[in-house]
Order: sequence, then structure tokens, then C-alpha cells
Amino acid sequence: QGELEDGIDYMFKIVMIGDSGVGKSQLLNRFVKNEFNMKSKATIGVEFLTKTVLMDHKVVKAQIWDTAGQERYQAITTAYYRGATGALLAYDITNRQTFDHIEKWLEELRMHTDKNIIVMLVGNKSDLSSARAVPVEAAKDLAERENLFFIEASALESKNVESAFLGLLSQVYRTVS
Ligand code: GDP
Ligand code: MG
Repeated sequence: QGELEDGIDYMFKIVMIGDSGVGKSQLLNRFVKNEFNMKSKATIGVEFLTKTVLMDHKVVKAQIWDTAGQERYQAITTAYYRGATGALLAYDITNRQTFDHIEKWLEELRMHTDKNIIVMLVGNKSDLSSARAVPVEAAKDLAERENLFFIEASALESKNVESAFLGLLSQVYRTVS
């Protein structure tokens, strides 16, 4: 993707948020590298990963920020959010608490970014549907109420991961093009 460096038409900063353990890093890992690690490390050592995609014949470079586990201590910094035009807000469909915290995450997000930031709500770990604790309808209702896009996905099975990120990117693209 290096050869596209000069031909970048748009650069978007996207932030990954949501409770610790919901699969943010693995969703990103899957999208950018098509990899998955069962024993996910809390720290990946870099602040963000990038992925370049074509959208409407334009070259869009997404700079996607992941935490190094700071969300555990409610210690995500202002710098993390600065300039973000999109957010992927994840919860774990088998863990009700991670869903109950979505409003809190939205509040924090909207405090630090433009109110009109595009948010993709992702119910991750859809492969564990036998342990489901969050009904799809509850998430759909929340998404509608809060003006979020919504999808269930599985980083493990590589299901809907592309749709989640590309859907988010295309909505951000719509607002700037
Ligand atoms: P983060 O703290 O939100 O970044 O979460 P991680 O990406 O580190 O993932 C936390 C744990 O959930 C790890 O053990 C992952 O292997 C596991 N995990 C992540 N995504 C999935 C998924 O789609 N399905 C299942 N079954 N496990 C997942
Ligand atoms: Mg992580």
C-alpha cells in the first residue's frame, strides 16, 4: 500500500472504543491483517494501524486507533480522540455489562469529538450465540435511538468485520465528499 502514499485522496482517523475484552484489537487485527489471536495481548505496541481502501474511485486511507488497554482504567486520553471522524464502538454479545456501558462510551466520545461523529456499533463474538446475553433487538433499538449504525460480527470467524469497517468508512466518506 506504500505506493499509494502519494495518491491518497482522503485520510480518516477512526477510534476503537468499548469495554476491555470485547474484541476491539482482534476486530482491527482481522480487518487490517486478516489475523486472529486467541491469546490477545493487551498491548499491540503501536497507536494505530492503517488500511487503504478504494471508495468511489477515491483512495481513502483509514488510520485506525486502538487502545493499549487504557479503557480498563477509564484513562483514554484526549489525544486518542482528537480529530477522529468515525468510531467503532464494540460490545460483546455474551456480556450484558459491556452493552450496558455503551451509553457511557457515547457520552465520553461526544465529549471529546465532534457531535456528528459517525459511530458503528458492533456486537462482537457472534460466533458465541449460544451464550448470547444481548438480544439483537435491544442493540437495534439503542442504535436507532442514538443514531448509530449497527452490525453483529465475529473477529474469530471473520464474519461481518469488513462490513463493519467498510460501512463505517463509507458513511464517513459520505459526510466529507
Ligand atoms: P479488547 O480488549 O477489546 O481489545 O479485546 P481483544 O481483542 O483483546 O479480545 C479479548 C478476548 O476475546 C481475546 O481472548 C480474544 O481472543 C477474544 N475474542 C475477540 N474477538 C472474538 C470473537 O469474535 N469471538 C470469540 N469467540 N472470541 C473473541
Ligand atoms: Mg485491545
